[in-house]
Amino acid sequence: MTASIIDGKAFAARLRAQVTEQVARLASGPGLIPGLAVVLVGEDPASEVYVRSKGRQTVEVGMRSFEHKLAAEVPEAELLALIDRLNADDAVHGILVQLPLPKHINAEKVINRIDPGKDVDGFHILNVGLLGTGQKAMVPCTPLGCLMMLRDHLGDLSGLEAVVVGRSNIVGKPMAQLLLGESCTVTIAHSRTRDLPAVCRRADILIAAVGRPEMITGDFVKPGATVIDVGINRITRDGGTRLVGDVEFASAAGVAGAITPVPGGVGPMTIACLLANTLTAACRGNGLPEPEGLTA
Ligand code: NDP
Repeated sequence: MTASIIDGKAFAARLRAQVTEQVARLASGPGLIPGLAVVLVGEDPASEVYVRSKGRQTVEVGMRSFEHKLAAEVPEAELLALIDRLNADDAVHGILVQLPLPKHINAEKVINRIDPGKDVDGFHILNVGLLGTGQKAMVPCTPLGCLMMLRDHLGDLSGLEAVVVGRSNIVGKPMAQLLLGESCTVTIAHSRTRDLPAVCRRADILIAAVGRPEMITGDFVKPGATVIDVGINRITRDGGTRLVGDVEFASAAGVAGAITPVPGGVGPMTIACLLANTLTAACRGNGLPEPEGLTA
């Protein structure tokens, strides 16, 4: 292996420490305690694990956590009414609706009901538009975490070739916008891209957000490139289950200059960025200066 490992777990711990310090400053200064409300509809076990982890980490950094669990059959109007109440609640600075939602609920309608200033996932259409036009937005947590790791590892990203594999609204597209904002030359690849390995080999920065276990092998990687693996895939192999990314770690690490592992790369950064976004939202919502280095 030649690549250095970008340790997302350690980076996330540093980011949480920074958030904790700023939250303590807000509490002792203006007396403001940032609050994050998480709404979970139904009983999807994976979502329940995420929500529990978010709640625990929110409290650990000194913020307030509000959890709202609704039955899978809850009428859409009831969920919208809850969002309205959270929008109006001054103790709530961030609102996150755990996705996916049951089929009878229009997820877009729900997301766009959230006050854009409290939209800590950055999925509201206004935040999407602000990010797309290079203005101050709430930035989606996973791409924000990737950007923070890239800046930390590479410094100035300007002029670098970046290839983002995946064009979803929650990862691929906002990631590409952020890299464009850093003055990278950005290519977005997807399932119709021709000769994907050759496209990827142009990349100084290669982001894999595909959802296909170990699809990106060493042949896709330019020597010395920085590889960020967003993928989280549970696979069964040799009689056991384990998590792998969208990148085949062993072969890619033999060619790349630096690489994020799975687990322990992008994953831990996502929740840390959610906490950072909640702090940013609390500051913006109260007309206070926002701490540096916590957003794009
Ligand atoms: P989506 O399924 O929404 O999007 C996948 C994208 O990959 C699509 O744009 C699709 O192209 C593209 N794609 C699929 N197959 C290929 C292929 N063979 N060649 C090239 N492109 C392909 O996934 P998400 O963006 O939501 O998530 C991507 C991965 O990131 C998943 O593994 C997910 O679990 C993980 N994830 C991790 C997070 C974290 O916290 N670390 C957070 C969010 C996601 P097309 O549009 O043409 O269909």
